[in-house]
Amino acid sequence: MALGLVLATSPVNAAPIDRSPLDPATAANPDLARHRGDPVWARLSVATLRFAEGDYSWTLIVITDPARPAGPFWFVPHDDEDAAFDAGFQGLTTYGGRLVAVANGGRRALSAAHGGGAGCVHPCDPNRDFGPRGPLYSATVLGLMAPGQPAVGLHTNAPGSVGHGGRGSIFADPADVARIFASPTAAGAFANGDTMAIVAGRAPKALAHPPCVDTLNAGGVHVAYEQVSGPPDASGDGSLSNHLALEDRDPPRTYVGLEARHGDAASEIAMIDLLMTCPAFAASR
Ligand SMILES: [Zn+2]
Repeated sequence: MALGLVLATSPVNAAPIDRSPLDPATAANPDLARHRGDPVWARLSVATLRFAEGDYSWTLIVITDPARPAGPFWFVPHDDEDAAFDAGFQGLTTYGGRLVAVANGGRRALSAAHGGGAGCVHPCDPNRDFGPRGPLYSATVLGLMAPGQPAVGLHTNAPGSVGHGGRGSIFADPADVARIFASPTAAGAFANGDTMAIVAGRAPKALAHPPCVDTLNAGGVHVAYEQVSGPPDASGDGSLSNHLALEDRDPPRTYVGLEARHGDAASEIAMIDLLMTCPAFAASR
């Protein structure tokens, strides 16, 4: 189609996916509305993808910079994390690539239309539905990535060690050497425990060499490591990070998750600017 959206060929893509252009000047979507006056829209392509999977109706907002397609894949699965969208939009307009955000009326989890059925578990967390739980969703999101395109997952969380659910591990204690690649120079928001990067891989942390850890640590950002196990093309907990870590690719796709406190787009953008100096990302631009 004219907007440059190319979905990977896959049997599940035989299911109907509605692709519609979206005008950011008039779209009712609050994430887009917050940036309505930005002149950068003139060079961006915007579309929505809508499809049903089991009892769930998915809407993805896809924003592409056609002039800089080699930039990162920016992914915002949680529609209640506005600062994550804002940081991703800033990342897209600064570094190019493609932003994909799940639109869900400002809510985090999808609710089932009919109270049961296939697709993700109930309620549906859009970052737990990759792999066998959501094959169409999974294929659609991954099909929007270019081969070799590095990915950035953007999230925000509540202050403190409880975080906002999920793994319950969205907190960086620099003394937690079993899990955290700690930065010796973390300061300000980067030292609040809620502002951090997360990477996943198959190897134990002691043997792992995830991309960009050195860059992030040198810039004051703690990096949490999650060891993921499972057969190739399993999906771990169904998050994009787990799915990509277990994907049967060599080398694995570069993926870094970024977390800041709810509302703190500035810290998330600061981490993006740092991450883009990492060779695995700088090479994509
Ligand atoms: Zn999130």
